[in-house]
Formats: sequence, C-alpha cells, structure tokens
Amino acid sequence: MITVEEFRAEVREWLAENLVGEYAALKGLGGPGREHEAFEERLAWNRHLAAAGLTCLGWPVEHGGRGLSVAHRVAFYEEYAKADAPDKVNHLGEELLGPTLIAFGSPEQQQRFLPRILDVTELWSQGYSEPGAGSDLANVATSAVLEGDPQASEATEKQHWIINGQKVWTSLAHWAQWCFVVARTEKGSKRHAGLSYLLVPLDQPGVEIRPIVQLTGDSEFNEVFFTDARTDADLVVGAPGDGWRVAMGTLTFERGVSTLGQQIRYARELSALVELAKSNGAADDPLIRERLTRAWAGLQTMRSYALATMDVEEPGMDNVSKLLWANWHRDLGELAMEIEGKSGLVLPGGEFDEWQRLYLFSRADTIYGGSNEIQRNIIAERVLGLPREVKG
Ligand SMILES: Cc1cc2nc3c(=O)[nH]c(=O)nc-3n(C[C@H](O)[C@H](O)[C@H](O)COP(=O)(O)OP(=O)(O)OC[C@H]3O[C@@H](n4cnc5c(N)ncnc54)[C@H](O)[C@@H]3O)c2cc1C
Repeated sequence: MITVEEFRAEVREWLAENLVGEYAALKGLGGPGREHEAFEERLAWNRHLAAAGLTCLGWPVEHGGRGLSVAHRVAFYEEYAKADAPDKVNHLGEELLGPTLIAFGSPEQQQRFLPRILDVTELWSQGYSEPGAGSDLANVATSAVLEGDPQASEATEKQHWIINGQKVWTSLAHWAQWCFVVARTEKGSKRHAGLSYLLVPLDQPGVEIRPIVQLTGDSEFNEVFFTDARTDADLVVGAPGDGWRVAMGTLTFERGVSTLGQQIRYARELSALVELAKSNGAADDPLIRERLTRAWAGLQTMRSYALATMDVEEPGMDNVSKLLWANWHRDLGELAMEIEGKSGLVLPGGEFDEWQRLYLFSRADTIYGGSNEIQRNIIAERVLGLPREVKG
C-alpha cells in the first residue's frame, strides 16, 4: 500500500496542479455556514476530485474506494486544508450513507447507489431530526407503511412504502436528489423499536422542501414534508424494524477524520484574528491578548488530542473531541466580535463580514452532530457509569 507520506505528496502535487484557473477562484469557499457559496462550481470541483480518485478514500477497493487507512485520510484533509481547497458538496453521501450501505446495505443497494456517490452524480441528505425528535431521536413520528402487491407482475403495482411526516434541519436537501430517512414502520411501536431506515427520492410530488433562513441570512437546511411520498419496498437498509441499529451505525461514521484538516482552517481563522487585533488596536487590551493566547493553546490541545486518539475506538473519545472543537470555535466567534468592537455591530453594504458570519454560525457548532449536553450525557452514562436518564 502507498505510504502515508507518498500519498500526502500525491495529494499536495495534485492540488497544486489542479486548483488553478477557474477552480482557484473557489479557494476557501463552502463548509458549515457557507454551503451556499458557489455550490454548482464546487459540485464540478467535487466531480473533478472524484475522477482523480481522491474521494471515498476509506471505502474498500471492491466498492470503488481506495481502502486507505485513517492516517492516509487525515493526510488528505491536512493537505486539502493547507491548499485552501473548497469544501466538497458530497460529504453526506461519501462519509455517511456510503459507509452505511457498505456495512448494512444489500448487494443491489450497493450496486445501485455507491457508484453514483463515488462519481458525485447523486447527492444525499440526512432525514433524522423532526420537530419532536432532535436530541431525543427515538421519538421519531414520521411513518411509513408498505402498500401494493408483493407478488406484483408487470400489470399490478409494485410494493412500496408510503411515507407521511415531517423532518427538520435537513442540511442540503434543496440540492440533494435523495434522503436517508428514519421512519416508524411498525404502527404503535415506541422509541427505538419499529423504526426503519429508508432511502427516499426527493424529486416527487409527495415531498415538499422548504428552506429555513438562518441567522446569517442564508439557507443551508430545510423542513422536509412527506405527504404520501413513496419509495420502493426494497429501499430499506437492514431489516424493516431494525432502523435504529442502522441509524446509529451511520452516526459512528460521522466521527471526524476531517477534524485535523478542520483545525488547519481554525488556525487560519485565529491568525487572521490576531492580525485584526494588532491592526485595530484591540491587542493593546491585556484581556484580549490573554484570550487570543488561550485560543492558540486550545488549538494545540485539540491537535494533540486528535493525533493521540486518531485510531482509538473507545467510548467517550469522539464526544470529547466534539466538545473541544465546538466550544473552541464558538468561543472564537465571541472573541472575534469583541476584537471587531463597534464595527462588528454594523453591516456595511448590508452584508455580514467574515467575523460576524463566524460569530453567528458558530452558535450552531455546539448543537449539530449532538449538542454539548448530549455529549456530556453520553460520557456520564457510558464512560462514568452514572445513572441513566429516565425517558418517557
Ligand atoms: C447546522 C445544523 C445542521 C443540521 N443538519 C441536520 C441534518 O442534516 N439532518 C438532521 O436530521 N438533523 C440535522 N440537524 C439537527 C440536529 O441534529 C439537532 O439540532 C440536534 O440533534 C438537537 O436537536 P433539537 O434541535 O431538536 O434540540 P433539542 O433536542 O430540543 O434540544 C434543545 C436543548 O435542550 C438540550 N437537551 C435536550 N435533551 C437533553 C437532555 N436529555 N439532557 C440535557 N440537555 C438536553 C439540548 O442540548 C439543547 O440545548 C442540524 C442542526 C444544525 C444546527
């Protein structure tokens, strides 16, 4: 297998040769809070990366990936961030649904969907959260019922799921063709039992996607309404009723090999903030100097933690990582506002500047992917063995 350093050199060289011309204009665009930026152009870039074999790096070779280790993938994300390459648009397919199908999907589902994730011709969204089911995901109320004739011939209708309910905060659904949906398929079932993991096409009359306007004024996520929406009977991943296990499997893939790359972006934000503090006089304030220094130290702690736990699969590790980066980034947003001072309170030209945008969007960091409170609950229960919460 190619060594990590050889692979790192390959990625660096490829990016230097390819992030040029029209693609160079995309540098730094996209990512959480900035998904609206140059979406179509970043889609083209993502396809270009895919054609060069630089996506789905950890997928097994037999499924079209490169079967590379975590260390290789970390090297990729580090080089990617150093080159300031634009954020990929296919994160949910590549990092979440693809690995889920490889682990739990049928051979037919793998053959149908994996190639289109690999070449970025179909984009995915994640239909977990509902108005009454966020942190408490087991409260899912969206229902799906099997209809039609299981013995269907050409003349009779094929069996299919009929889906009714509402999802919310569904990131990128307005650009996606498909959604992986957790739905209740056993009537009267409660909590984790009776759920199924369905693959649902979004372009159909029974699906309405309403973008939600965020604090930043942009829309990255949506409400998704299902009214007698349909999907084929065989587009259930795992057994019907076993959706909780599959849904939790997907969440384990959400863990971040991209964390170290993300930290290079954070480091860039911090050094730009240090420059701002020097140039606008904020650095004359000893408290600001102290907070900037603490931010730098926090970044080193995150890096050491991420390197030390890269290959460690122990309860609590990912939760600590999530708490570290989410709180660090939220605090950086608050510090940026203090450093900007009065100019942070106005919108010249009606547009947020980069620091205002960082401040507003980083409020979401401590919520998505599991809020701070939920991370701490998991540590309390699964690592420290403290009494479990009582749930209705
Ligand atoms: C930017 C962004 C993108 C997202 N993208 C998606 C997506 O693509 N697909 C998707 O399905 N979802 C998505 N989400 C939703 C996200 O998963 C939920 O917001 C999250 O799970 C919290 O659920 P909630 O918003 O319903 O808040 P709630 O669960 O109602 O929580 C409200 C508050 O109560 C606290 N709380 C809740 N339960 C407990 C408890 N047991 N103990 C202590 N405190 C508790 C929470 O920490 C929080 O502070 C996204 C969210 C954001 C912010």
